[in-house]
Amino acid sequence: MMRHNLQAALQQALQTTRLGRRVIWHRRTDSTNTQALDAARRGGAHGLLVVADSQTEGRGRFARRWEAAPGQNLLFSLILKPDIAVAHLGLVSLATALAVAEAVRVQTGALPHVKWPNDVLIESRKVCGILIETTLTTTARPTLVVGVGLNVNQTAFPPSVHEATSLVLETGQHVDRAALLAQILHRLEEHLNGIGTPSGQASLRAAYHASLAHLGEPIAVYRGPYHAPVTGICEGVGPSGELLLRTPTGTQALHAGEVSLRPG
Ligand code: ATP
Repeated sequence: MMRHNLQAALQQALQTTRLGRRVIWHRRTDSTNTQALDAARRGGAHGLLVVADSQTEGRGRFARRWEAAPGQNLLFSLILKPDIAVAHLGLVSLATALAVAEAVRVQTGALPHVKWPNDVLIESRKVCGILIETTLTTTARPTLVVGVGLNVNQTAFPPSVHEATSLVLETGQHVDRAALLAQILHRLEEHLNGIGTPSGQASLRAAYHASLAHLGEPIAVYRGPYHAPVTGICEGVGPSGELLLRTPTGTQALHAGEVSLRPG
């Protein structure tokens, strides 16, 4: 029932965006990223959107699970073929987190922050996770799958999920998922439009910095269980979307995919 509501509402809401012009629906699937990666390997076009009302194998980075109650959240993946040099692909993660944060602000009045590289927080609790994966390609233009799990109308989380929140918990208001998704796609489209040019990249970084959690504050960066954390002051992100960490021995550039960040 909920699926049909969301599906019908989205068809209406997505008419004006290029992203999401084509949508694949699942009431239940393994993972929207898995489905979008399959679609990309079969030649799926830029902007193809896979949406699910529930996932049995939703995942985050490092094969961690993404837990979401059915029918209450936004779970979607987009195929993107951004017009951008491979060295700058990290900016897509930033653009996505920023688009989610901006759309949440506009639609709900909540005040989210982005947490480098791929999360959106409200008051230091995670409301959204983003997972970007890529298909191996021999073409110059890489194909990315950008997956988003956004906690919308869910009111409780399992004990395995720490420090999570949802939009309804933060605002006390039930949120229209279709309108929110359309707003996210609009914002993302805008950020992607300029992502191949120096001026577009500079404005993306400026907007990202304006919403960035921990900017100018001490943080600890973890490179996995066998390495001691690196601590320093968060100086924001560099031209390729890398995290800049000021340490006593100089500023280090850290690339996503390798690290997790915590307040220091
Ligand atoms: P961090 O950067 O904080 O180390 P991450 O960005 O690597 O985390 P993700 O890959 O985005 O984390 O997401 C997986 C993690 O998110 C899981 O380990 C789990 O703790 C947490 N999680 C799972 N489901 C949810 C949810 N619905 N809301 C918030 N957090 C969740």
